[in-house]
Amino acid sequence: MNPNTPIEQAFRTIEPQKKALHKLGIKTVEDLLYHFPVRYGNTSEVKNIGTLAVGEDAVVYGTITGLKMSKAFVKKIPMAEATVTDETGRVKIVWFNQPYLAKMIREGATVRIEGKVSDRKGDIYFSNPKIEIAGKVPLAVGKNLFGDQGEEHALYPVYPESRGLTSNWIYHNIERIFKSGMLETLVDPIPQEILDKYHLPGMSDALIYIHAPKRESDALAARKRFAFQEIFFIQLRKQQEKSQWKAEKSFDITADKKSVDGFIKNFPFKATDAQQKSIETILINFRSGHPMSRLLEGDVGSGKTAVAAATTFAVVTSRPTGQNFGNLQVAYMAPTEILAKQQFENFIEFFRGTGIAVGLITGSGCKKFPSKSDKNGWTSVSKAQLSKWVANGEIPIVVGTHALISKSVIFKHLAFVIIDEQHRFGTAQRQKLTQKNQVHMPHLLSMTATPIPRTLSLTLYGDLDLSILDQMPVGRKPIITKIVLPKDRVATYTEIEKGLQEGRQLYIICPRINEADPTKEMAVIAKSVTEEAKRLQTEVFPRWKVGILHSKMTTSEKEKNMLDFTNHKTDILVATSVVEVGVNVPNATMILIEGAERFGLSQLHQLRGRVIRSNHQAYCYVFTESTGAKTVARLKALSVAKNGFELAEFDLSQRGAGELYGGKQWGISDLAMDALQNLKMVEAAREEAKQIIAEDFQLKKYPLLKSELEKTAGSIHFE
Ligand code: ADP
Ligand code: MG
Repeated sequence: MNPNTPIEQAFRTIEPQKKALHKLGIKTVEDLLYHFPVRYGNTSEVKNIGTLAVGEDAVVYGTITGLKMSKAFVKKIPMAEATVTDETGRVKIVWFNQPYLAKMIREGATVRIEGKVSDRKGDIYFSNPKIEIAGKVPLAVGKNLFGDQGEEHALYPVYPESRGLTSNWIYHNIERIFKSGMLETLVDPIPQEILDKYHLPGMSDALIYIHAPKRESDALAARKRFAFQEIFFIQLRKQQEKSQWKAEKSFDITADKKSVDGFIKNFPFKATDAQQKSIETILINFRSGHPMSRLLEGDVGSGKTAVAAATTFAVVTSRPTGQNFGNLQVAYMAPTEILAKQQFENFIEFFRGTGIAVGLITGSGCKKFPSKSDKNGWTSVSKAQLSKWVANGEIPIVVGTHALISKSVIFKHLAFVIIDEQHRFGTAQRQKLTQKNQVHMPHLLSMTATPIPRTLSLTLYGDLDLSILDQMPVGRKPIITKIVLPKDRVATYTEIEKGLQEGRQLYIICPRINEADPTKEMAVIAKSVTEEAKRLQTEVFPRWKVGILHSKMTTSEKEKNMLDFTNHKTDILVATSVVEVGVNVPNATMILIEGAERFGLSQLHQLRGRVIRSNHQAYCYVFTESTGAKTVARLKALSVAKNGFELAEFDLSQRGAGELYGGKQWGISDLAMDALQNLKMVEAAREEAKQIIAEDFQLKKYPLLKSELEKTAGSIHFE
C-alpha cells in the first residue's frame, strides 16, 4: 500500500461505500488520509440506555438485535427496525429509507447510536439515528498508535456525514494505513524551518493527531497545521502567478499629468482623497513597463467608476514610450447587460467633449458614441461594424459584458482591462480577456464592492495589489437603517408611503430562496417577485406604479423595466437580490429588504448601498420574520457599522467564513475557511510564501512544494 493505491484496491468495499467514497472524491489511500474528522466525540458523553430521557440528544452503545426490514405503514417507504440493548436497558430504533443499513449491520453486533430520543405511546425510540459498528472503538482509539497502554482514551473521530460510509469504517481503515508503516515513508512538503518557527507538527504526527488525538490540543495542533498548509499552498501559487504576471511586458504608459488632472477637474464633483490616491497609484503602475494587477475595493457608492474613467482617459490619450502607432485601447467588462449599459452611459458623461469614442458590446446589441449625426448621443451599430472599429483601433474604449471576450472581438492595442464587480467573473474569463493581447499584456484593474474580511481577500486575491476607497463622497448622509419586526410591517408601509408622496422611489428586495437546483431556484424566486409585486400593487401601494426585475425575464424586458424605473415611470421596483448589483438610480432613496435573516450582513450592506446614490436622506427597512435575539443583534450591527469591511469582520467573527462565504465555491476546505478567522496565520503563510517565491521563483530548491503545487493546480478557483 502506498499513498497512490486506489482505495478500492487497498480495502474491501461494498457498493454503498464505493458510491459514498466516489461522492466524497476519495480515490486513493492518500485521499482517505486527508479526509479529516469534523469533530471528536467523547466517550464520557455516552449514556446508559436505562437513563435516556425523551427529547435529549444522546449517544449509546449496545448490542443490536431483531433487525428487520419492512415497508412503512403509511407511505410504503422502506423501513428498518431493531433493538439496541446494554446492561441498563433496551431501546427501539427505526430508520426510514436506508435499506443499505441491513447489509452493513449484523445481528449481535456492537453499535454506536447517536440521535434524538423520541417517544411514541410511552415507548422511547431513536428515529433515523446515526449508527456505526462500534467494534473496539472508541475506547481503544489511538492506543496502539502511541504505544501507550495504561492511559484511557476518550476521544474518537467523527467524520463528515455521508450516506453509506460510517465514521467507523473510515477510522478502521485509517488505522490500517497507520499500521502499514506508510506514514514513515511520507516526506513533509513544508520546510522544517517553517514548521519550527510556527510550532506546527510534522506531517505524519499531524495525520495521527487529527485522526486519533489523545487530547483535544493534539487535534487542534493538527488542524492548525493542515489549515496553514492549505493557505500556504494557495499563497505560494498566488505569489507565483503574481511574479509570472509581473515578469510579462506591458505598454509603458506615461500619462500627461496635467491633462489627467484637467479631466478630473471636469468631474461634476470633487474627487475624494481616496479616489485621487488610487488614480495616482495606478498611473505609477502604468509606467513600470510590466502589467499592473490591482484590486480596487470600495463600498457601493464610493465612486469606483470615476477612478476607472480617469485611468482610462490616461491610457487612451497616451502614446507608449517607443511606439508610434495610434490609440491604446481600454476594455471595461461588467457582469450584466444592465450594468454594462449603465456604465456605457456613465462613460459617455465622463468623455463627452473629449472627442474620444466609446463602444458598447453586449449579447443583445452594440452601440457607439458619438453617433455621426449627433455628437452628444449614441447610435446602434451592428456587432460586425463595431468589431471592425475595435480591430482597427478606431474605437479606444469598449464597454461590454462577457460578449467582450468572444472570439470575434479583437483589439488592436489593448492596454488596459477593467473588470467591474470582479468576483462575479471566473478566472478563466479574466484570463481570456487578458490573453487577447499577445506581445503586451494589458494592465488589469479589478473592482469590487463586496466587502470581504481581510484574511479572505489576502487568500483569494493574494496575487493582486490592493487599493481601497475607504471614503464616501462628501455630503452623503448615512443611511437610516430600521429593523422591522412583523408587528411593525403596516406602520412601516405607511412611513414609506410618505416618502413616495415626496417623490422618492423604492426598491423592494425579495428574500433569498435556497433551492438545491439552481435553475429551479431562479424560477421560484421569479415567482415570488411576481407575486409580491401583485400583492403590493393591489393591497399595499395601489396609488403607485410597481415594476419587477428578476433573472427569468428576457433582456429587453429587464431593460425596459429598469429604464421605466430610472425614468420614474414606475415608483417601486420589486427585485431579486442578485440581478442588478451596482444599479444607479439616484431618486430611489428607500429600500425594503424582505427575509433579511437569510442574507449575510455584508450582502445586506451591499443591497442598501443602492440607495446611497444621492444627497437625499436614504432609508433601509430591514424586514425580518425571525425575532430571535441573535438575529436581531446581528441585524442591529447593520445600523451602527461604519462600512462594509467592518460588517464583514463582524459577520466573520459571528458565523465563520465557511458558512458565510461557502468555501466550496472557491475550492477551499472548511478547515482552511475556519482558519480565516486567524489573521496572524494567514499573514504568516503569506509572508513565508512571498519569501520563498522571491528567492526561488521556480521552487528549484523545494521540489516537494513544486510537485504539491502541480498536483493541486486548478483546484482553487475564484468565481
Ligand atoms: P461605485 O463605487 O458603487 O461603483 P459609482 O462610481 O457608481 O460608485 O458612484 C456612485 C455615485 O457617486 C455616482 O452617481 C457618482 O457620480 C457619484 N460620485 C462618485 N465620486 C464622487 C465624489 N467624489 N463626490 C460626489 N459624488 C461622487
Ligand atoms: Mg460600480
